[in-house]
Amino acid sequence: MASDVQSLSATAAAEAIADGGLARGELFEHYRRRAAADKLNAFTWVADVEPAQVDGALSGVPLAVKDLFCTEGIPSQAGSKILAGYCPPYTATAVANLEAAGAVVLGKTNQDEFAMGSSNENSAFGPVLNPWDHSRVPGGSSGGSAAAVAAGLAPWALGTDTGGSIRQPAALCGIVGLKPTYGAVSRYGMIAFASSLDSAGPLTRDVADAALCYRHLVGRDGNDATSVVFPEPIETPTSERLDGITIAVPTALVEGEGIEPGVRQSFEASLETARSLGATIIDCEIPSARYALSAYYVIAPAEASSNLARFDGVRYGLRVEESNLDAMYTETRHDGFGAEVKRRILIGTYALSSGYYDAYYGRAQRVRTLVARELAAIFERADFIVTPTSPTVAFGLGDRIADPLSMYLSDLFTIPMSLAGTPAISIPSGLSEGLPVGLQICGPAFSENRILGAAHALEQAIGFDGSVTWGGAS
Ligand code: GLN
Repeated sequence: MASDVQSLSATAAAEAIADGGLARGELFEHYRRRAAADKLNAFTWVADVEPAQVDGALSGVPLAVKDLFCTEGIPSQAGSKILAGYCPPYTATAVANLEAAGAVVLGKTNQDEFAMGSSNENSAFGPVLNPWDHSRVPGGSSGGSAAAVAAGLAPWALGTDTGGSIRQPAALCGIVGLKPTYGAVSRYGMIAFASSLDSAGPLTRDVADAALCYRHLVGRDGNDATSVVFPEPIETPTSERLDGITIAVPTALVEGEGIEPGVRQSFEASLETARSLGATIIDCEIPSARYALSAYYVIAPAEASSNLARFDGVRYGLRVEESNLDAMYTETRHDGFGAEVKRRILIGTYALSSGYYDAYYGRAQRVRTLVARELAAIFERADFIVTPTSPTVAFGLGDRIADPLSMYLSDLFTIPMSLAGTPAISIPSGLSEGLPVGLQICGPAFSENRILGAAHALEQAIGFDGSVTWGGAS
């Protein structure tokens, strides 16, 4: 039975439990054992007993949760030494919503510190290995969540995406990742990075699982004033065709420097597949996209510098004892934060300081508005915008860590949608040199049902086989 359990998607596992063909305890114990034997460093905490369960559509399906989400009584450390051992007194709404539908927390997953990074190498708990090639990164910042799902250590996982942190690791690990419309999923209990960009979403084996998870994630939450009621129920995607669909390709952006030939080939093959399913492909331009990366790397650090002020040694986690208060703050932050987090706090504080605010933060906000307008104009003529998710396949551990700018370029294609607050999914489109390539499908705000439908049609036609990693021994 164990290998059968391993082959089940989360959707199939939930159905098998509902039919009585699979015992909840057996499913949980199967994944608990695999997660406990994790050799990828994907988990920072694994449950040792099966938690109490409630009945519901997800009853008994184990869930891996990025460590950025607060989970009551369970370590929630956001990949940071400053939160080492911190167990919050409450659970994030996103996690609580899935638990209310019957999902059970299997473990917490490793991540870049405070979700700052694209490789999971900025974690105080060490890097995560890519299950396709252990010498490579899984992507980031939700690297542990992506690796855990891709390696079959968890049926699915929650991640967060501020500039690409669900989509890029999903792409690099050969799985599906959905970044929601801003506000569709509550941010309550997510340890804040950049509040105007942060979003929570699923990392799954397939598109149907992403839809199932997302159905239970969305909703207005009184504890997050920016959360909204999703205007329609999330459907189970069944589309096989793309007839009547117009897909826009930002050719100049996609053909820019830095995109690997194998990624471009896979992307072109996906466009061919979309055409064969009935879609019309048109060209589009996002002229501000070339400034989007720079704008993001001002806005996100600016918000982070404010959000991270709360880690002062008084209220949470680490405290370095010193003879006076100022020294205690300074030494706690000095010891507790890693290099990338310090870099962002410095950049963000500088960009917000008086005299520089207009030149940096103000201008970045104007670029943000332009990007959102340009995307909205494209969505007047097209149903979707598609790009590769990442310009490269998984890169080697250590290859980019010394050069922050090369690391930031990983987010070239994902950041415009983050600035605009619009939804996007990454699905596997094939392999380049034996490593997965991701295809990003983006739509206007609240078009998740349509995005999931198109992603399902393409997924079926592409026929990518991820079971080579999740089907194996752990
Ligand atoms: N890689 C980007 C960054 O480092 C995005 C991270 C994210 O989406 N959390 O900020």
